[in-house]
Amino acid sequence: MEISAEQFKNILINIADTIEKNVNYLTELDAEIGDGDHGVNMNKGFKKIKSQLLEADADTNKDIGEILINAGKVLLNEIGGAMGPLYGGGMVKAGITLKGKEKINKNDILILFSSMLDSIKSLGGAKIGDKTMVDTIEPFVNTYKEQIEQLKNNDLKSAFKTALDAAKNGMLSTKDLVSKIGRSSRLLERSKGHIDVGAASSYLILEAFYNSL
Ligand code: ADP
Ligand code: MG
Repeated sequence: MEISAEQFKNILINIADTIEKNVNYLTELDAEIGDGDHGVNMNKGFKKIKSQLLEADADTNKDIGEILINAGKVLLNEIGGAMGPLYGGGMVKAGITLKGKEKINKNDILILFSSMLDSIKSLGGAKIGDKTMVDTIEPFVNTYKEQIEQLKNNDLKSAFKTALDAAKNGMLSTKDLVSKIGRSSRLLERSKGHIDVGAASSYLILEAFYNSL
């Protein structure tokens, strides 16, 4: 199974639609232990990505790396707070590693998400257990990698689903964690009892990706 540039654009559009449907959910989560801007910021950024993709002539860009770089730049320019640099920078980094590819396969999907994770971790300094988006994305990457490399699973969709389940568990695990990084870390013990909003939006993105396959 391979994903064409056209399919990849549709994946990004589906992600944008999913974020839009979940603005209130993300706002509520961020309001619990943050400042409540996450849903609105993410929606603003992904809406712009969607409209740029829809405006562009279908044939103008078949390079999936470039599509990702352009989308990442939109987030870097449009989103304030922690998310512009973390998600936007991660997408740009992933785009650079995939530059020149007009279709991507199961190995490229691993490259995409692992380079995004590396970028997020090196920029933000978060590790597993700090109650951030890393708690969703790292288990996803590790499980997906295990599926396709150690377990030789050749079915992109089934490998992705197993990794998505690990991402969900990671996201849910943030509920009982004390935040070690970002705005919610100021609350110390009081940050316990709420799912981290970045972990939640990362899960929504991965789930929308999976549902588009
Ligand atoms: P802000 O905290 O600036 O209002 P958002 O509300 O958009 O930004 O995003 C908050 C989310 O960002 C957190 O839930 C967390 O998952 C993520 N986050 C914040 N700082 C970091 C970091 N240094 N590394 C990884 N993720 C982070
Ligand atoms: Mg916030």
